[in-house]
Amino acid sequence: MFRRSAIEMRVLILAPVGRDAQLLADTLTALHIDTEISSDEKGLVALLAEGAGTAIVTEEALTADHFQALAAWLAVQPPWSDMPLVILTSGGRATFGSKRRARELETLGNFTLIERPVRPETIESAVRAALRARLRQYEMRSHQEALVRANADLEQFAHSASHDLREPIRSISVYSELLARDHARFLDPKGKGFIGYIHSSAQHMETLLDDLLSYAHASSVPVGVPGPISAKEPLDAALENLAGAIRESSASIIVGEMPIVRMRKSHLEQVFQNLVSNAIKYRREDALRVQLAAQKQDNHWLFCVEDNGMGIAQEYRETIFGMFKRLHSNQEYSGTGMGLAICQRIVERYRGRIWVESELGRGSKFLFTVPA
Ligand code: ADP
Repeated sequence: MFRRSAIEMRVLILAPVGRDAQLLADTLTALHIDTEISSDEKGLVALLAEGAGTAIVTEEALTADHFQALAAWLAVQPPWSDMPLVILTSGGRATFGSKRRARELETLGNFTLIERPVRPETIESAVRAALRARLRQYEMRSHQEALVRANADLEQFAHSASHDLREPIRSISVYSELLARDHARFLDPKGKGFIGYIHSSAQHMETLLDDLLSYAHASSVPVGVPGPISAKEPLDAALENLAGAIRESSASIIVGEMPIVRMRKSHLEQVFQNLVSNAIKYRREDALRVQLAAQKQDNHWLFCVEDNGMGIAQEYRETIFGMFKRLHSNQEYSGTGMGLAICQRIVERYRGRIWVESELGRGSKFLFTVPA
């Protein structure tokens, strides 16, 4: 048995005809590179599945069936993996020269063609380059694993926080209310003021916990490939939730044609709701107008939520997407600074991007993309 790291960096060789396999193995072993010879393509795919740094395959080993088996395995690699292959062509005869074969080869992805007869230095440099690329992929895998663990920890923390802290916070809120209502005669004005602070702080803390939980949910709920939905559904739901605020602010909401997207309804609803409620919250004196639109661009949909509100100064256009980042005090505008962080988390889960274009005093345009 190989050590795991040795397995992950070994060079597999599939060269069933002649002495190529042994010659390649000898050349690489002399360079202290671990090798494993496979006698057929089934064996190669099984060895690849166990782990490998790269595979050297001769052209004649890639008959139609063998090619299919290898291509099928490569197609289902995890996202961090892009197995590098070194393919030895039969110099002169150039069967890979045919257009059809060249197109077929493209499906193998990350490969280098080397014409035979091969010089040992050529094979050494090709294998070293492939192993170097593979090491980078392993690093990427470690980062992704760390990220998955961090997300799981965050969700765990958010759950404990919301369950364990909610009760005591509720008690603080309820008892401060009772104190203010039933025992006010024992308190001087300063004492009454303090109770007011306690009560509003407890309520703010409850909102913070809700937002923290939404943030953790946005990162942890597996997206999979959700079924197609009309973006109009979550948008209507978000506007319905905000009906009171829309009425109070007399906002005109103008909705353009909405596309079909592959997103969870609850995720897109949350993004729309956070953006529209911000547009309402950070409005100016004059009549508020919020426009929502979407347009197709290359392979994604670009959504836009535009308002004519107070706008955002250039230097804060990125910071506002950070957790708990706010440009206003709670006295001016209530909030937790989590709304845009939640939007960013959701959009990025779908490999999209969110950003803002704005000028202070001249409204804001929040834009986000999701794959079409
Ligand atoms: P919150 O609204 O709770 O403060 P957000 O993360 O939703 O948290 O927003 C972060 C900050 O970005 C807000 O405090 C506000 O200053 C600014 N902001 C967000 N949306 C708008 C908007 N439509 N117009 C102006 N400023 C905005």
